Order: sequence, then structure tokens, then C-alpha cells
Amino acid sequence: MLEFDTIAAISTPPGEGAISIIRVSGDEAVKIVNQAYRSGTKSLEEVPTHTIHYGHIVDPMTNETIDEVMVSVLRAPRTFTREDCVEINTHGGIVAVNRVLQLILKLGVRLAEPGEFTKRAFLNGRIDLSQAEAVMDLIRAKTDRAMGLALKQMDGNLSRLIRRFRREILDVLAQVEVNIDYPEYDDVEEMTQKMLLEKATDVKGYVLQLLETAQQGKILRDGLSTAIIGRPNVGKSSLLNQLIQEDKAIVTSIAGTTRDIVEEYVNVKGVPLKLIDTAGIRETEDIVEKIGVERSRQALSAASFILLVINQAEPLSPEDEALFSAAAHQPFVVILNKTDLPTQVDEARVRALANGNPIVKISLEAQDGIDQLEQAIADFFFSGAVVSEDATYVSNTRHVALLNKTVTALDDVLAGLANEMPVDLVQMDMTQAWSLLGEITGDAVQDELLDQLFSQFCLGK
Ligand code: GDP
Ligand code: ZN
Repeated sequence: MLEFDTIAAISTPPGEGAISIIRVSGDEAVKIVNQAYRSGTKSLEEVPTHTIHYGHIVDPMTNETIDEVMVSVLRAPRTFTREDCVEINTHGGIVAVNRVLQLILKLGVRLAEPGEFTKRAFLNGRIDLSQAEAVMDLIRAKTDRAMGLALKQMDGNLSRLIRRFRREILDVLAQVEVNIDYPEYDDVEEMTQKMLLEKATDVKGYVLQLLETAQQGKILRDGLSTAIIGRPNVGKSSLLNQLIQEDKAIVTSIAGTTRDIVEEYVNVKGVPLKLIDTAGIRETEDIVEKIGVERSRQALSAASFILLVINQAEPLSPEDEALFSAAAHQPFVVILNKTDLPTQVDEARVRALANGNPIVKISLEAQDGIDQLEQAIADFFFSGAVVSEDATYVSNTRHVALLNKTVTALDDVLAGLANEMPVDLVQMDMTQAWSLLGEITGDAVQDELLDQLFSQFCLGK
């Protein structure tokens, strides 16, 4: 194991939680925390590993009691970083936890850099790079499904697959090497080329399959950009409130810095929608609503999915028709609202305009058809079938870029073989594919890349 100094950071999110946790990791972790720990005659240096202890944190210089705490002692190697770890549970809020942290730092521990705990876990061989990135995704995960995806990746699903590809490529490269050493056999050259061809084709197929999951993985992580559009008074605000109210727990509003675009995340049957430009929809009375159609057009350009709301208690207006053609470039769901009122809309005409996109009838007022609407949204995303829970997804931009480069390298292998290039040149492209895949799992990464990656982590992780 590598030698590191002892580091500490607050590992719970800032804010007014019931407890806050300071994580300390390194050879000196137990010894230093013990200097500030008081509980009768108990010494943390003598307690069994993976046990938790009640006591107080006291400044040994002034004997001042700083907080009442629970302290976990976790000895290497069965810890997150594979180093000795101590976790101090302090009272919530920023004051107590900060004072305890300040004291620990004063006793000789260094404040951890963002991502440093995870970096150590990686460097000490506890996790590989794709798992480390999954930790980062987990911290940012916005919905249950994205969370499950990150957990799976942390579990090493992707890594296992990538390592298998690498092993297979390496086997072939070894064979090629052996064959080159015995050029006296006549059919060696042919055999070598055949092997390279088969393996390059094979691995390329798998990598392309993985890349296909990438788009879905990205949506699961970042949310599907969705615009609610429709004429004034058709029920856009009501729909927005309906979606938000169903899912209060994970709604977050992020005020945009450019323009006044507001994004809100809602989770519809596992599909994370990033509702864009909700600012205009929220303001019910003002001019923004009056220019609803123009505003809708703007929201459209940023959306990959559209909820087109029509008031079915009125005949279709030219503006409604215009919105259909504006939406035609993205997938959309037509929502015929106000079914509690008599139907005036020409449904055959709506079906023609919808052009195969789903149509759902609802009454936001009477709370009718809401479930069908949510199902239609989920079906659209998952193409009617719930995605297999144990599928391996690629959701990380860096991984996608590396997989794309791998495909290029494999294409070079195939082109080289087709053009009857010398085997050692083809071999180089195959080796390139092998190292690109290695960058995903971190089996072949440089230091700067590591620093850059881990600095993206939250402090305390
Ligand atoms: P927006 O202008 O498109 O955002 O529409 P709003 O959501 O502000 O709704 C306009 C009006 O229609 C409000 O008075 C709502 O209460 C009403 N409304 C919304 N949904 C329904 C519905 O399903 N049935 C009826 N009868 N009225 C509705
Ligand atoms: Zn409105």
C-alpha cells in the first residue's frame, strides 16, 4: 500500500442536517482523533475495529468541550480508502462540525482536497476509475434510476466488461507475437490476419452496443430536456404544478444565469424530466402568458421532448396547428386537457396532426387521466418496455469519448487488414484499442488525468 499523510474533511452536505460527519483517513487518524476524544478512560487506540463510541471532543490545549459525538473507528484495510479511518458524528449545522474539524486540523491532520478520499480508494486499489467516477455520479444523481445506474457502475459492471475486452485483445496480440516469431510456417500470416479480423470485428460490435446505451444513460443522469407548450389558458401551469406536486421530494429549481430560464427536475415513473423554461409558465397573469405561442417556440429549441397541451373544450385554433408543426422535429406527447368539459376539438384532426405521437386525454381539474399521461411519458422513454435492471450502461462523457476512439482504432485495424498492410502496423492499432479501453478502468492513466478527474469530486468524498 502507498504511504499518505492523514487527511480530514466534512463528508456530509452543508446545511442543517441532524448530524454532520467528519471523515479522517490515514495512518495517524486514530491516534490524532484520540487526542481530542474524552470518554472516561476509554482510548480509541485500544477499541476493536469497526466499532462506534460515545464521548466528547475536547480541545486538549484548553480542555474546552467542543461537542458531544459518536466516533467510529475503522481500521485498514476494510475501509473506503483502505487506510485507517475515523468518522466523527457531530451535532448538525455548520458551527459544531466546523469547530471539531478546525481542532482536528490543529492537531496535525491536513484538510482533504476535493475527491481525495475517493482518489486514495483508487490509488490503494479499493476501486477502479470507472467506479470512482460512479461515486461522483452518485453524489450528483438526480433520480432513483440514475442512482441505481451509478451504483451498478460502482459495483464494477462496466469495468468487468471492459476488462474482458482487453483480455481478449491481449490474447490475440500475444498470438500475433508468437506467429510473427515463427514465419517459417506458410499459413501463419493468413492465420494472424484472420485472428485480428475476428477479434476486431467482435470487440467493435460489443463497443458499439455499449455506446448505444450511452444516450439513455446520459438522460437518466442529466434529465430529459422537456418543454411544456400550448396556447394561453390551456392548462400548462396546471400541468407543471401537477408534475411538481407529485414529486416534491426531488424538485429543485435552478435559476439560469443567462436569460431567465428556470429548470425543474421531476421524476415521472423513473424518467427524470428536466422541465425547461418553466419561468414563463409559472407567471400566470403577465404578458408572458399572452405571448404564449412565441414563448413556446423559444422553449422548443432547447427541448428534446415536448408536452403539447391542447384545450379539448375548444375547437383547434390556427395557433394550436402552428404548435404542432413547430413540435414536429422532436418526439412529443399531445395532452388533450379539460375532459371534464364537453369536447369541441376535432379529434380526427388532432390524430392526423399528432402523426403517430401519443395522445392522452386528461382533466387536470378533475385529476383524471394523470396516470395514463405519466405512463405515456415513461413508455416513450423506455419504448414500452422497462429497461432491464441489470443492463450495463455507459453514462459518463469521458467513457463515451474513449469508446468512440476505440471504435476508430478498431476501424483502423479492419482497414489495415483490408488493405493488406504489414501485420506489425495493424498490431499497433490493435494495441491502441487495448490502451484506450484501459483508460476507462484506469489501468492505463496518467497522473494529470487523475488529478483533473478527482478534483471534480465534492469535498469530503
Ligand atoms: P396556462 O395558461 O396554459 O398555463 O393555463 P393554466 O394552467 O393557467 O390554466 C388556465 C385555466 O384553466 C385555469 O383557470 C385553470 O384552473 C383551468 N384549467 C386547467 N386545467 C383544467 C381542466 O382540466 N378542466 C377545467 N375545467 N379547467 C382547467
Ligand atoms: Zn400558465
